Amino acid sequence: MFEHRGRGVINNRTGGAALDNLIELDKKHFLHPTTSIQQQQEQGVKLLAESGQGIYLKDRDGKTYIDAMSSLWNVHIGHGREELADTAAAQMKKLAFSSAFSSFSHEPGIRLAEKIAKLAPEDLNAVFFTSGGSESNDSAIKLVRHYWKIQGKPNRRKIVALKRGYHGVASASTSATGIPEFWEMAGHMKDDFFHAATPYRSTTQEAIACLREKFESEGPDTIAAFMAEPIQGAGGVLIPQDDYFTEVRKLCDEYGILFIADEVITGFGRTGTMFGLQNWEVVPDVITFAKGVTSGYIPLGGVVVSDAIHNVLKQKSKGTLFHGFTYSGHPTAAAVGLKNIELIEKEGLVENSRKMGGKLLEGFKRIKDDLEIVGEVRAKGLLGAVELMKNPETNESFSKEQKVAPRVIEELHQRGVICRSVTYESTDIICFAPPLIINERQVEEIIDHLYQSISAVQEQLK
Ligand code: PLP
Repeated sequence: MFEHRGRGVINNRTGGAALDNLIELDKKHFLHPTTSIQQQQEQGVKLLAESGQGIYLKDRDGKTYIDAMSSLWNVHIGHGREELADTAAAQMKKLAFSSAFSSFSHEPGIRLAEKIAKLAPEDLNAVFFTSGGSESNDSAIKLVRHYWKIQGKPNRRKIVALKRGYHGVASASTSATGIPEFWEMAGHMKDDFFHAATPYRSTTQEAIACLREKFESEGPDTIAAFMAEPIQGAGGVLIPQDDYFTEVRKLCDEYGILFIADEVITGFGRTGTMFGLQNWEVVPDVITFAKGVTSGYIPLGGVVVSDAIHNVLKQKSKGTLFHGFTYSGHPTAAAVGLKNIELIEKEGLVENSRKMGGKLLEGFKRIKDDLEIVGEVRAKGLLGAVELMKNPETNESFSKEQKVAPRVIEELHQRGVICRSVTYESTDIICFAPPLIINERQVEEIIDHLYQSISAVQEQLK
């Protein structure tokens, strides 16, 4: 049923009146996240998803797409997995919801916390649950500030993060995000959030020198934590040099600054290890996670803290911890998370991510050898990117007006492949994060379409 056809142009009319009506209703009533409202009004729905199976999505017109982004970097085990639907149904019938406030608890929440503690490195053993990545990062920031406050250091409030980093859209996570476009809507909290240069097109030494300078200029005694993604996703799949995070860890230790790893994209096998930082055997003080923990089947996220932090909380946090979401530790979400992790482990998807990521990178390299506008290509597990440049030898970019990466994305879309471009600061990056269940033939299919799409745009540019 989900054989990949991959051709054809979206035709909003073939579904007839019912489809037209849905598109009109969408314009009228659905305020979409991270979407141009103007474009929505003028052009309507880009893709009206109807169903999903494996790495494929099908729209209302019956056209099939390869979901080469796992939707929003999150559908690790692929679409249409009945095991998760069955688990959710069984849990909902038994205990759909029950609170975790005021020491109430339930088995799915306890078991998932235990499981995540086992998977997380070394002494990261205590989990606070949320419903997604932004809530997780806001919670982590509040938890580390609380950690310092109860130790008599209330001035340690500042968060240092990286330029081009993305940490979400809640209050603190928007401010921690290092992509200024996200501050335009309602500002950011300038007094408490700072950004150092990301290790992109720079050596570890340069990036660490910049971070040290930031710590020094802000005053280390006022910094609660450094926050970074192991691999920046929304920033353009920027993979740091192998020694970068080892040096980050050392620097944080030198200044007594906590290190929060935002593993929202990189967690649960995306980069070929269970957590992204495990690629470099670096252990942070705090991990935030979401997305892959349930493969997106149901909203869930969380924060894992080290025993050292947990012990301070146990000893010094008096009274109620006034932080908690209604859905912190939601039993149905927790049951789905447990089943999802069971499937990731049983089906060897972390290993498959590593292997298929290698194939994806080989394919990228073949394209780079053949097409002159392809610059750097990179992948760690199934998180990869292809950078397009006017002159890859001198790193000369195309102008923004040429919209090179968005045009490639459009070509891919027409061919039935969904992926995403990043164009901040004069870059043209095509990002890939296919489901971890992908096989070699399907990787080749993506590579073929990518080759055709970049070739087409390269021709148009001549
Ligand atoms: N952190 C990272 C690294 C992300 O990529 C995202 C979302 O893409 C978030 C945090 C925010 O997660 P959510 O959209 O679930 O709030």
